[in-house]
Amino acid sequence: MFFPEDFLHYVWKFRLFDRVNLQTNDAEELEILSAGLHNSDSGPDFHNARVRIGDTVWAGNVEVHLSSSDWQKHGHTTDNAYDNVILHVVYRDDEPLVLTNGRRVPTLELQNRIPADLYNRYHKLIFGNQTIIPCEASIGSVDDITLYNWLTRVLVERLAKRSAAVIAALNKNRGDWEETFYQFLAANFGFKTNALPFELLAKSLPQNILAKHKNNPLQIEALLFGQAGFLNNDMADEYPRKLKKEYEFLQKKYQLTPIENHLWKFMRLRPQNFPTVRLAQFAALVVRSNHLFSKLLEIKDVKGLRTLFTEIKVNPYWGNHYRFDTESAPSPKNLGQASIDILLLNTLALFLFSYGKHNQMQHFINRSLQLLEYLPGENNKIVADFSTLGVKIKTAFESQALLELKNNYCNYKKCLQCGVGNKILKLG
Ligand code: SF4
Repeated sequence: MFFPEDFLHYVWKFRLFDRVNLQTNDAEELEILSAGLHNSDSGPDFHNARVRIGDTVWAGNVEVHLSSSDWQKHGHTTDNAYDNVILHVVYRDDEPLVLTNGRRVPTLELQNRIPADLYNRYHKLIFGNQTIIPCEASIGSVDDITLYNWLTRVLVERLAKRSAAVIAALNKNRGDWEETFYQFLAANFGFKTNALPFELLAKSLPQNILAKHKNNPLQIEALLFGQAGFLNNDMADEYPRKLKKEYEFLQKKYQLTPIENHLWKFMRLRPQNFPTVRLAQFAALVVRSNHLFSKLLEIKDVKGLRTLFTEIKVNPYWGNHYRFDTESAPSPKNLGQASIDILLLNTLALFLFSYGKHNQMQHFINRSLQLLEYLPGENNKIVADFSTLGVKIKTAFESQALLELKNNYCNYKKCLQCGVGNKILKLG
């Protein structure tokens, strides 16, 4: 048999070996009362295990190795963290283990106790041919409850990781959730192509300056377009000339420095997605929703969150323009349904989760998950690949979970730590 140590961890953790007439290497009767808690940090592999050896019940740590001589090779002999190991579990017992204090550590050898069919399933899963993911031949037959429970777990892992970036920004903003939300929302308004200039724009123009002008839409638009560097040149149309005049006054007042205008990208974008149009939409949202984050927290029905975006109206100038001073055929410029859903997914759901986790308020975490369950699933290659394997999804909750599963489990063959992999290995 050939396998890495983590397979042995898995076999021990779930006690997937022949447990009839277990004995230590000293021929003492052994009963496993609890395999213990798997430890992924430094120190022994399992904590708080309980075993009965002879007539004595022991509680403590368990260390797992392929060979008992690995104890020496891994440097545990001189590490006090291993002093209270109560059982050494090995595949091959090639030398007795005696600690420096003279204590002999009981050893359990599993060499002839691992079922061949379990090993074969494991080998096929990890080392078999694959085109998409290691378990591609079996995942379609895993029951819905196992799959859904596991997707929920990886989705929460994903949100927890992403919320770390939110909390880091929150700390930089001295605990100001409104400012932090405004910065993330702005970056997401740039979607992939213009995320950076949108983010720089938001950081160069604090939300509290915009809030002071909440009753004057022209000034909000002037501040945003001016700080974005779109009002540097002379303009022909009346609307941008008015914006420029307002901006020049406000720029002096607040001592603002615009960002570099060349950062904005128009290439390969459909005109509907030009950054000028996105800025007009963002300005309309700022005008309509002062203290947006507080409003978000108040909306209990996740369906109501969409209306925050559907009701915004851009300045009429944009009805027949995609850029300043260049007239185009009339077309509506309000945010489309797909764009709104991406903003809800990447900003609102993330912030509800982050706020709930940071403040230990579970109902906000629940609302974040409800929102993801309400939003339609994304269309991308990962979702399409899983679909060909029989894993069909409907919601953003599931599509986000699949992204996490593929990128952080399947790609690294972490099948032994995966709920799906566990089910496949146990069931055969
Ligand atoms: S990590 Fe899980 S879902 Fe991915 S290939 Fe392995 S068993 Fe399958």
